[in-house]
Amino acid sequence: ATPAVAENLTDSPHYLAEALIKNGVKHMYGVVGIPVTDFARIAQGMGIRFIAMRHEEDAVNAAAAEGFLTGRPGVALTVSAPGFLNGLAPLKEATENGFPVIMIGGSSTRSVVDLQEGEYEGLDQRAYAEPFTKAAYRLDRIEDVPLSVARAMHVASSGRPGAVYLDFPDDAVAQTMTKTDADAALWTATDPDPAVQPSQESIDQALQLLSQAKNPLVIIGKGAAIAQAENEVQEFISKTDLPFQPMSMAKGLIPDTDPHSTASARGLALRTADVVLLVGARLNWMLSFGVGKHWNPDVKFIQIDINPEEFENSRKIDVPILGDIKSAMTMLNAGLAKTPVKAPQDWIDELKADSEKNDAKFASRIDSGKVPMGHFDALGAIKKVYDRHQDLYLVNEGANTLDICRDVIDIYQPRHRLDCGTWGVMGCGTGYAIGAAVTTGKNVLYIGGDSAFGFDGMEVETACRFNLPITFVVLNNGGIYRGDFENLGKDGDPSPLTLTYDAHYEKMIEAFGGQGYYATTPDEVEQMVEEAVASGKPSFVHVQLAIYAGGESGHIGNLNPKPVVGPL
Ligand code: ADP
Ligand code: MG
Repeated sequence: ATPAVAENLTDSPHYLAEALIKNGVKHMYGVVGIPVTDFARIAQGMGIRFIAMRHEEDAVNAAAAEGFLTGRPGVALTVSAPGFLNGLAPLKEATENGFPVIMIGGSSTRSVVDLQEGEYEGLDQRAYAEPFTKAAYRLDRIEDVPLSVARAMHVASSGRPGAVYLDFPDDAVAQTMTKTDADAALWTATDPDPAVQPSQESIDQALQLLSQAKNPLVIIGKGAAIAQAENEVQEFISKTDLPFQPMSMAKGLIPDTDPHSTASARGLALRTADVVLLVGARLNWMLSFGVGKHWNPDVKFIQIDINPEEFENSRKIDVPILGDIKSAMTMLNAGLAKTPVKAPQDWIDELKADSEKNDAKFASRIDSGKVPMGHFDALGAIKKVYDRHQDLYLVNEGANTLDICRDVIDIYQPRHRLDCGTWGVMGCGTGYAIGAAVTTGKNVLYIGGDSAFGFDGMEVETACRFNLPITFVVLNNGGIYRGDFENLGKDGDPSPLTLTYDAHYEKMIEAFGGQGYYATTPDEVEQMVEEAVASGKPSFVHVQLAIYAGGESGHIGNLNPKPVVGPL
């Protein structure tokens, strides 16, 4: 096209980038190639910060982290078939977690794909994406750019948030429109996540039930974090003095050090609570489905959720409250004037006594000074650093590294802990760390096991290239769960569970210009993590644990089926 023609024209990549920007998109995470290389360049040129990553799985995870942190969908970009397929696992994970995210996937020429003629990276991507997402759309015509973006925004953010896939075939990439027509036709999503007020009746019933309870308990889940309902939840807890249990990613919504937290009396709280208010937490495997030996057999549940399909998912719910958590908590707070709720003092005292007992046991484990270190020794040292930097975003993955870190490190601010989530995913962490650093501009502390880190460790290069303030801490015990398993075969190969124990992971970041550290004692861990975090630079602390540190499957060994006959 001559410049004169180009002056009056826009094309799909420009128009799509413009629509994204108008809808508030500031960042895009992706890996470029045919047919979206120019789209990425154009988006960057138009003002979207493009974070070029090393693997699509990590790019989608970074975008999902942005969605969790902001409540607005993060956006990821992939190339056709293989790149697209790499993005599917994290799209499904984001949907399971309820994180809003949009993945745009370049794809190959429709007519050739549809006749299965053997097109370069030919795959009917929209159809493949459907079971892995909340919704999957295809942008076939440049005129549909505004609609496709607005629709993706709404579906990803409203109701239970989740993933939307937008297919961008090369036929569409090549289309043009006059700028005048394009400008006139551009519109943006109006309030992509509108408030949904629950019925007053359900609120009244909930308060009635809570006011009569002997052992009332609030369980705060990551839905409350996604809903950004910290002020409303805090108000309710401080007015009622109800004890609460934070689920993993809800930690910090109310600081873990708040006296109403009964995190360390979890077993007793669940076993003896008679009325439980679920605030954005599902009765899935993480809460033993609300039934069985971990629960009081007579417990009654009040559940606030935006998704009506969640109610009676696994057991009777006495009061379902259908609506968004902010609205529901606002109405509960207002209703307290008419129906006061107060936690009975003997229940508070009972939980407090149990917490203190467990806390004392814990304190002795985290400050043992033992070398070689176990998880408690290393994480106890990191806790001291975290307590001095309470605005650090913490990303945590692994088995023992996940379970023990969740218990040891207190979180003080909402949405400051990102982890393996609803599915217990490994390999989400470096993507989450990059998304958190880009989205917030704040320092991020990644804490992962050596196995978990291995899935997505190459993103250390991305962190260095973009000079992101991330400190990667890898707790190395030489394997999946730990490193001292024996090979049961005759081939002299290592066990399926073991990885390189005498590795120097910190050298990875040195290869890309970052600062590496190697720690073998709790004092070194504390001093080196402190220095790394304070630098605000890409940095890496390799923590050498004992090879025998850690239990198989971490704290969820009960989910690990044991063969009836052999091999062990
Ligand atoms: P956790 O793992 O922390 O227990 P879950 O992910 O199991 O949390 O549960 C979160 C729940 O919160 C989901 O059922 C989801 O539908 C719900 N949810 C998410 N956002 C909102 C919102 N804005 N209002 C109400 N419920 C929400
Ligand atoms: Mg390990």
